[in-house]
Amino acid sequence: MNIIVADYSGFCFGVERAVKIVEETSVEGKNVYTLGPIIHNPQLVKKLEEKGVGVKKLEDVKDADTVVIRSHGVPKEHIETLKSSNVKIVDATCPFVTRAQNQAAILSSDGYFLVVFGEKEHPEVKGIISYANNGFVVVENAEEAEQCIDFHDKIGVVAQTTQNRAEFDRVVDVLKLRCNELKIVNTICNATTHRQEAAKKVALISDIMYVIGGKNSGNTTRLYEICKEICPKVLHIETKDEIDKSDLIGVENVGITAGASTPKFLIDEVIEFLKEVEHAGE
Ligand code: SF4
Repeated sequence: MNIIVADYSGFCFGVERAVKIVEETSVEGKNVYTLGPIIHNPQLVKKLEEKGVGVKKLEDVKDADTVVIRSHGVPKEHIETLKSSNVKIVDATCPFVTRAQNQAAILSSDGYFLVVFGEKEHPEVKGIISYANNGFVVVENAEEAEQCIDFHDKIGVVAQTTQNRAEFDRVVDVLKLRCNELKIVNTICNATTHRQEAAKKVALISDIMYVIGGKNSGNTTRLYEICKEICPKVLHIETKDEIDKSDLIGVENVGITAGASTPKFLIDEVIEFLKEVEHAGE
């Protein structure tokens, strides 16, 4: 059985940075909390809890707490609320997410109607739209853009950082016909594109593929969907415990990829498990 691990599997730059910031902050002080889960990976959030880092909602934050802002950011108003109280703020927002927020603010103040291509309920998108003050709409795909965007003199478009580039281009094609002036700011992060391309390559040569990552992780779910279009059997798992050995009978090539929020130890555990299955000849 060949085990093929896709390039770029696991933590991206922004997640690695955020986790490092949280760990360093937890060593330095007490009452350290993240505002919502620091990343969309339940196993890592549990590990951080064991190190004393809790998860709080904005309304539960108390004076003297240290609050770490997660990698995909929070709405502007949340930062303002925190600043008005006696808490220490540690900002672990990924610089690429900050760029998307800043671009939303710039487009709005330059008089553009803002279109955000992304998931309406995703915290990153909620953060980005909080910077729009000249009207905005969030669309999840080109069909939705067709249906709900009226004609505007000036439209500016940005994307949730983990979105699919091909769909972004389709949204842009729709917008070209809905305004006199279109300003496109591609805020999709390279980490996402690289992961998706590498996953596709492995999916092409695999009989079965495991996509490792939180079930609540948007970028992991997108990797799963992309691989599912190519590979005959694709499973989205959080840990090795979800692997059913009977799926591996007669399999020659096993592909592995993992979302940008999946810690290395979870990928290593899956690889080890697969090696053990192979050695046992199961
Ligand atoms: S996927 Fe990109 S934007 Fe999102 S945290 Fe990672 S590096 Fe930052």
